[in-house]
Amino acid sequence: MAYPLSASRLQTYQRCPQSYYFRYERGMKQPGFFGGASLGTALHQTLAKVYGGWHYQQPMPPIEWVHQCWQQSSASLNPSQIAEGRQILEGYYYRFLAGETLRKPLALEGKVDGHLQVGNLEFKISGRYDRLDWFEYEGIELIDYKSAKEVHLPDAEAIDVQIGVYFLALEQRYRQSLKQMSLLFLRTGEKITYLATPTHKERVMEMVSALAVQLQADHEWQPMTGKHCDRCGYRRYCAAVTTDPEPLPENAQAGCGAERSIQLALSV
Ligand code: SF4
Repeated sequence: MAYPLSASRLQTYQRCPQSYYFRYERGMKQPGFFGGASLGTALHQTLAKVYGGWHYQQPMPPIEWVHQCWQQSSASLNPSQIAEGRQILEGYYYRFLAGETLRKPLALEGKVDGHLQVGNLEFKISGRYDRLDWFEYEGIELIDYKSAKEVHLPDAEAIDVQIGVYFLALEQRYRQSLKQMSLLFLRTGEKITYLATPTHKERVMEMVSALAVQLQADHEWQPMTGKHCDRCGYRRYCAAVTTDPEPLPENAQAGCGAERSIQLALSV
């Protein structure tokens, strides 16, 4: 069984190995983080329909096609969300679609897996995408829709890890390089693009190698303190920031020692 990894797992590990241990090795969920995502989900579904359901016999669908897709995806929303979503999608249409020729994406709303062998450990690295486009027919552009109210850019390190994970996985899946990754902010119409290079992939491979050493060494997962501790859901268990830390909850998994030995045993 391959050890599962993703950009967010690697970002967590990079930020603080101990929080990685709590979250992924002991299975302790961080307290409440999400919420109010229904409008965002409906917008994502609509855009998948706009691109995935169009017949491509005309160069560009009319705005009515967007309205139709929105109607199909917004039934569970309240009237103000429906009106807001419609306005956001009209903005998207006139900014990114109208006057162009709609190109059929390579893939929509999916997950891509890459595999990596480090010593005798096998890793499966997965990433989700909203849309994959052929970039000038020379590679792939990954589009990530953002529906948050504020334009909040991830920090540079997090972006680098994300790009590296997608680069690795897309190269294995499509035999094509990732050329760029774009964050598309639906409410503001901003599109922020990051160029992808093989260096991004190499950095991720280095991180996975470091993690492999950690997994096999079975020593302490060191806490790494910083500003991120302010938002960490594990503070009360963390001796680095709390003078009298609580013991881990009883329902926390008993570590991954057993799981790890299975992985090691199954590795080639
Ligand atoms: S509080 Fe800081 S050092 Fe402690 S686990 Fe969380 S991120 Fe790591």
